[in-house]
Amino acid sequence: MTDQLPNQRSAGTTYLSCEWCGTPVSQLGTRTPRLYCKRSHRQRAFEARRLLKLEEQATAKLSQ
Ligand SMILES: [Zn+2]
Repeated sequence: MTDQLPNQRSAGTTYLSCEWCGTPVSQLGTRTPRLYCKRSHRQRAFEARRLLKLEEQATAKLSQ
């Protein structure tokens, strides 16, 4: 089995932990899973991922 996102059920509602801060995010009434508690956290995670990618590319260039 692969590691899934931490989730828990209570009273029929599914919660996922915010990918950025870990706050439980209610999945009630959403078709697609909401991974972040606020839009700004989604944006931050997106930026962090982008920076990480740039860093990886820079490191790869240096090691050549
Ligand atoms: Zn959050």
